[in-house]
Amino acid sequence: MAANLRFDGRVVIVTGAGGGLGRSHALAFGARGASVVVNDLGASHTGEGASSRAADVVVEEIRAAGGKAVANYDSVLDGDKIVETAMKAFGRVDIVINNAGILKDVSFARMTDQQWDLIFQVHVDGAYKVLKAAWPIFRKQKFGRIINTTSAAGLYGNFGQANYSAAKLALVGLTQTLALEGKKENITCNVIAPMAASRMTETVLPPDMLASLKPEMVTPLVEYLCHEDTTETGSIFEVGAGFVGKLRWERTGGHGFPINQDLFPEHIKEEWSKITDFEDGRTTHPTSTGESMEAIMANFENVANGG
Ligand code: NAD
Repeated sequence: MAANLRFDGRVVIVTGAGGGLGRSHALAFGARGASVVVNDLGASHTGEGASSRAADVVVEEIRAAGGKAVANYDSVLDGDKIVETAMKAFGRVDIVINNAGILKDVSFARMTDQQWDLIFQVHVDGAYKVLKAAWPIFRKQKFGRIINTTSAAGLYGNFGQANYSAAKLALVGLTQTLALEGKKENITCNVIAPMAASRMTETVLPPDMLASLKPEMVTPLVEYLCHEDTTETGSIFEVGAGFVGKLRWERTGGHGFPINQDLFPEHIKEEWSKITDFEDGRTTHPTSTGESMEAIMANFENVANGG
């Protein structure tokens, strides 16, 4: 297939690009003409230690293939320094891929405050810090493309990952709000829930499954969403092993109780099957807080006689 989705002249920051998915994203953007900031502090998958090697190796790979790249070894918590590296080396930033991440898996009963805080720091504060520094640049140049990285654990929950799933869903909220706030300035923001073989998944998935879960099968969606011609924004995608799908909310038709009568738990019990029925043909797919409120506002008119 002709590789006509190019990124010549664009500058991409990929956080956590020293391995796994981030490395795959960085190599792909480098191969299609972008200048790449390969950020990675080279920690273990649980966040211990640091080494410049991880980022350096990927920079060398991009350069060896004829691309342009520089390394940055800061933690995403120092996101402003990562953006500074891009500005110093290439004079602009067009695309931010928030990909860096760690795990501190433990059941909620045994989770410490530190394990909770650390996961929020890297995933949520880290994404915030990079975006906060890139945002004024995006606004000024009236162009920006952002990808945040959530997880199925964030969308559906996962045993032993209360910290990780809460932090990952925070990134969905961040994505949807930035999509709204960036619209006027041609800044798009989308979020992916990937599934890929990496050191993060190699201990939890069987080897034959890992062989089919190449990070390179996730990256093309990221490239497509970050292209200047793509206007998709505020969307959630699940992607892996060649599957790409979009996710949305679905709400039941529910039940409206009269607004002028007292509401008791017994009323809820009585209408429970209606409140929870996704199969009665009355479901909707709200896409904004405005659409979400419509059903509640419509019930303002629900006045019972003699209430
Ligand atoms: P990975 O461990 O190979 O990559 C994560 C990278 O982030 C590492 O290179 C690590 O050094 C770097 N990193 C960690 N903390 C950092 C920090 N503070 N600052 C800068 N870099 C830091 O794992 P991966 O599977 O490639 O994960 C990439 C992203 O995808 C993560 O956000 C992860 O939560 C998410 N994710 C992955 C999967 C999957 O199936 N692999 C599933 C769901 C979500």
